Amino acid sequence: MDCVKAQQMIRPYLDGVLSDRELEDFLDHVQTCQSCFGELEVYFSIYRTLNNEDEKGDYNYARKLRGRLRKSREYLQVRRRNKIVKVSLIIAAEIALAGAFYSLIRMPGGYISRHRTEIIPVVDTESPQDYGMPAAAPYESSDSGQ
Ligand SMILES: [Zn+2]
Repeated sequence: MDCVKAQQMIRPYLDGVLSDRELEDFLDHVQTCQSCFGELEVYFSIYRTLNNEDEKGDYNYARKLRGRLRKSREYLQVRRRNKIVKVSLIIAAEIALAGAFYSLIRMPGGYISRHRTEIIPVVDTESPQDYGMPAAAPYESSDSGQ
C-alpha cells in the first residue's frame, strides 16, 4: 500500500468501515510509515475531540492511538481465528454429509442397488447406410467416356 492509499483510508479506519483485508494493509502501512502515522494521529485527535471521547485533561493522543491500533490488530487476529474455525467446521460437516450420503446410496435398497443395470457393450454400428447413403460414393466421371 502506498501513502496516498493509506491516507485515503484514515477516515474509513476511524469510522470503522474498512474490510478485514483493508484494515490489515492499513495497519501494516501506518505502523511502518512515520508520515502516515503522523497523519493518522492528527485525524485521530480531531475525531476524539469532536466526539468528546476523552476524559478531562487526558490529551495523550499518541498513546491512545497506539492502544487503538493494538485493538485493531487483536480484532483481526480474532476474526482470522474465527474464520479458520468456521472453515474447519464447514469441511467437517461436508465430510460427514458425504459419508452419510455415500452409505445411503450404497445400502441394500439404496439408490445404487435399485438402479444397477447390465453393462451393455457399446459397438460402433454406424455406417453410411444408416443415413440412407450408398455404401460407396459413385464415380460420376467414370462412364462419361473420354
Ligand atoms: Zn505512508
